[in-house]
Amino acid sequence: MSDRESTLSDLLHETRVFPPPAGLAAGANVTAEAFEAAGRDRLAFWERAAERLSWAGRWERVLDWQPPFAHWFPSGKLNVAYNCLDRHVEAGHGERVALRWEGEPGDSRTITYRALCDEVCQAANLLLELGARAGERVAIYLPMIPEAVVAMLACARIGAPHTVVFGGFSAEALRTRIEDCDARVVITADGGYRRGAASPLKASVDAAVRDCPGVRHVLVVRRTGQTIDWDGSRDLWWHEQVGRQSREHTPEAFESDHPLFILYTSGTTGKPKGILHTTGGYLTLVAWTHWAVFDLKPETDVYWCTADIGWVTGHSYIVYGPLANGASSMMYEGTPDTPHKGRWWELVEKNRVSIIYTAPTAIRTCMKWGDEIPEQFDLSSLRLLGSVGEPINPEAWMWYRENIGGGRCPIVDTWWQTETGGILISPLPGVHTCKPGSASRPLPGISAEIYDDAERVLPRKDAAGYLVLTEPWPGMIRTIWGDDDRYREVYWSRFPGVYFAGDGAKWDSDGDIWLLGRVDDVMNISGHRISTIEVESSLVSHPDVAEAAVVGSPDPTTGQAIVAFVIPRGSARTDAEGERFARDLRDHVASEIGPIAKPKQILVVAELPKTRSGKIMRRLLRDVASNRELGDVTTLTDSSVMDLIKEKLPTAA
Ligand code: ATP
Ligand code: MG
Repeated sequence: MSDRESTLSDLLHETRVFPPPAGLAAGANVTAEAFEAAGRDRLAFWERAAERLSWAGRWERVLDWQPPFAHWFPSGKLNVAYNCLDRHVEAGHGERVALRWEGEPGDSRTITYRALCDEVCQAANLLLELGARAGERVAIYLPMIPEAVVAMLACARIGAPHTVVFGGFSAEALRTRIEDCDARVVITADGGYRRGAASPLKASVDAAVRDCPGVRHVLVVRRTGQTIDWDGSRDLWWHEQVGRQSREHTPEAFESDHPLFILYTSGTTGKPKGILHTTGGYLTLVAWTHWAVFDLKPETDVYWCTADIGWVTGHSYIVYGPLANGASSMMYEGTPDTPHKGRWWELVEKNRVSIIYTAPTAIRTCMKWGDEIPEQFDLSSLRLLGSVGEPINPEAWMWYRENIGGGRCPIVDTWWQTETGGILISPLPGVHTCKPGSASRPLPGISAEIYDDAERVLPRKDAAGYLVLTEPWPGMIRTIWGDDDRYREVYWSRFPGVYFAGDGAKWDSDGDIWLLGRVDDVMNISGHRISTIEVESSLVSHPDVAEAAVVGSPDPTTGQAIVAFVIPRGSARTDAEGERFARDLRDHVASEIGPIAKPKQILVVAELPKTRSGKIMRRLLRDVASNRELGDVTTLTDSSVMDLIKEKLPTAA
């Protein structure tokens, strides 16, 4: 096998470029000059970034690196909630809106920094009264309501690490997470609104904690007013308990390495891992990146991150980053299609949102619904768009730019992981030329490289392989909760001494990075290693395709063959039309990227299996395509999707 073949292939050719708009570049938080200067001394750069925060005690050194364990700003002391709330009030911004919250049924709340600070202090006092103390874990299982933010910050304020579990997860998923981190208090709600109906939450908590004797208290926010079971020895109403607490609470400063939260990953590639993040480095990273990547102007911007609070994007870019920067954010409880498919764009218009941060899955869904939906709303307040979660297909990127961004807004395609804590690779909107499908450059202070199989650093030009981080960064995963060995094994053993991200990537001829999807998902066709995203993006560039996922299945002649699962745009097709459609798509891929990438089998499906954070779970598609039993499905949004897909397979029919 030649060297060229031994790395991931580099097949798709995308040539459209969008330089920074002149006005934005001139007034950008990070200019081209500042970017250049920032890259020169990594530790000095991060030290200056840390100085944007308010510390109660200065660090001894910037970094204590005991590979693979990084301790940032050792001996430095700070309180995260103080940094996100009190210091803005003290600086005279108490009346600035922190959260504009929109409920799914149409109710809304506007919460200033002063009001949020007061409520967090009350919740912190309650947690202390309930015996919670620094270091003890608190589980949060809430819908997208302001109390979720209050609960997280109250935990941070008293130094009790939280673990937020998606409101959509089952009792079983909640139980395993409570058990894994040994949480003693659970904060939940009676229910939440999704798709126009009140869906229960408390019942799952009841089922989960039945087998968790360590849980002393369950705090219940009243959101829907639905009937719930009540255990008087354990359950407490949030509004009764929080409301009677004092609004005074003196924040304690914690050591920079104090645990802030444990968050279980999406489970796209396997069983979720409990990722531990600590305080000083994490807040430094998320505050700086939120300010720089989104070019945040806290006095004038209205920022909206559409993620759920239960995944890392919600932690870093709804709660900690924006609040540390004094931003005004919008937060939305429900689904994008309730009560109608234009709900998001209606909210952008109503709240004059200027920055929106969402995921490729949402963009592809809006593409499928049609251009005429966003067209009905005034989206002229938008000035910057962001994407996160998966590689974005160039066609979806262009749709986002044209139909949401009015052709004028830069798009920041931000690469990061639960483990990285915050954005590590992204264009800076005032500095870099954006390209549809490219995450552009490592941020200043980030040492990203692409390695080949033999651990060689590839030149930063026309080369594809494995994305690695060769130096620690603030906000880096501290360990996998309770399992240092697994931490070493998962991230530090593939290439000793460097962090293995698990994603394939390439440098293009300009030295920009393109993410090629999971290394586990790479297909091997007659010795050619082909990335999933390139074939999928080629399929999505066909006018009749809304979404596509490809996987390799065993093949006697080529080793593996490409199987494509395709969601068409528009109406259903007859079998004969379906066959013609499949032939069309195969030809389209062959002409776009070459015959080697042509799917052997194309299955037209209505839905793809996705995690709650919207990522395609190719491992499950690989299981069905290879006729194997399905792996872990606990993080799947909707498990019936897999049954529908299995029905489509000739082998199962
Ligand atoms: P698990 O690790 O449990 O399998 P997961 O990797 O899906 O789950 P996350 O930490 O939520 O959990 O996702 C991080 C991954 O998402 C990255 O490794 C990458 O594959 C993908 N990703 C995130 N942002 C981007 C992006 N902008 N471009 C390409 N891929 C991205
Ligand atoms: Mg991962």
